[in-house]
Amino acid sequence: MDQLAMAARRRRRCKQCGSFMDYISLGEYKCPSCGFVELDDYGKIRSYLDENGTASSAEIELATGVRRSVINEYLRKGRLEITDGSSVFLKCERCGKDIKFGRFCAACAKNMVSKMEEAIPPEEIGEEPIPLAQKKPAHMRFAKRK
Ligand SMILES: [Zn+2]
Ligand SMILES: [Zn+2]
Repeated sequence: MDQLAMAARRRRRCKQCGSFMDYISLGEYKCPSCGFVELDDYGKIRSYLDENGTASSAEIELATGVRRSVINEYLRKGRLEITDGSSVFLKCERCGKDIKFGRFCAACAKNMVSKMEEAIPPEEIGEEPIPLAQKKPAHMRFAKRK
């Protein structure tokens, strides 16, 4: 099991009163007894990007304290995506082509599925970036898909 699935399964106790907290959505937990709200790593990244628009992984790490390996895992799982016009993208794990999120480009995913008969979840099949003239350091945003 990966880090994200483990974090989702772990039940959180309220820091204020010790009750088990309810998972609201998008990385946000709320205590049913005292109303205390807490964000997990994903919630922290989401609220930071909500306030600041796009940000690089270095900026996100600095502002939220979420480690870059965790940020990278959210990108690979398609829960964050790198914006068009960035200078650095994720690489398809099979052919090395630039992708904005996920693990494989669409062509490789199609090819692998027909060979292995093993479905690749859609959130791990990354879109290719639209090349823009103006490059900026890799920035990411909250993925619009659910
Ligand atoms: Zn509480
Ligand atoms: Zn590929």
